[in-house]
Amino acid sequence: MNSWNLILKRANNKDFKPFIKFNKSSEEWEKLLPKEVFDVTRLGLTESAYSSKMCNLFTPGYYICSNCESLLFTSAKKFQSNTGWPSFSTPFKEESLNFFNDNSLGLERIEVRCATCDAHLGHVFNDGPAPSNLRFCINALALKKIEEIYETILGGGCFWCTEAIFRNVKGVLDVESGYSGGLLENPDYKSVSLEQTNHAEVIKITFNPQIISFSEIINLHLATHDPTTLNSQGNDTGKRYRSIIFYKTPAEKIVIQEEIIKKEKELGKKIVTEVVELKRFYKAEDYHQDYYYKNSSLPYCRVVIAPKLKKLQKFYKKFTK
Ligand SMILES: [Zn+2]
Repeated sequence: MNSWNLILKRANNKDFKPFIKFNKSSEEWEKLLPKEVFDVTRLGLTESAYSSKMCNLFTPGYYICSNCESLLFTSAKKFQSNTGWPSFSTPFKEESLNFFNDNSLGLERIEVRCATCDAHLGHVFNDGPAPSNLRFCINALALKKIEEIYETILGGGCFWCTEAIFRNVKGVLDVESGYSGGLLENPDYKSVSLEQTNHAEVIKITFNPQIISFSEIINLHLATHDPTTLNSQGNDTGKRYRSIIFYKTPAEKIVIQEEIIKKEKELGKKIVTEVVELKRFYKAEDYHQDYYYKNSSLPYCRVVIAPKLKKLQKFYKKFTK
């Protein structure tokens, strides 16, 4: 839960260096973004007050980063601040934002940046509505509003890998590493690793169905891990590494089965992916989230994950951010 004290603590942490998950040079951003968006998000300028209709927009929906599409805020936490900028009392999740002291213009403020791509979003103040008492004052040009989001949970070996892959997929708004498919409640990494829980290492993918469909997500999953090897991916062996896709509705189950049949024909091999009804997803410990980006120099990341990302960029370009 966000609180002013926690935000101050994070902003005052001088050792903190953002690990950027979606990295582009300033020149690349300049080519990609409209000038007014580039000026705000990459140069840190502030748009004029009341310059966007988004200030007075309160219809249901989700607010994503205009640079990298990460899910940042929801309409449920948007409020009328009468300041001239879109205002939110709470972010979608604390980890999606970074905070920095900003002493420019002779003011003492806390700057808010996107934790995925380091875009400047705006500032946060401690004069918002209860219970958070926070006011995230965000430039409308740093945001895009979308109407709906969709979630799916799947596993294909070590979640450090699958998370890194799906973070780079167009239309994917958020990815979380976790455990599912077993019986033990509130499992931890140790009990899952010791194969005491029957849980698999999985990821929860939140995506924009207007950009990428559920069937495309399933297809990409089957293409970016080996769905033909039972309980193993490369050197990682054990039931926690099994290939698995969860469904929430009978319609989802049919889509998954159709994609598996298509892939089997393409590969000419039997697919062993489990198709299971979703019971519960347990988020993994914090140090597993964004593991690849926090630890990209470690051997496992360099040897196992980096080539998978290269493969994604090479063979599935149209799906890559
Ligand atoms: Zn971003």
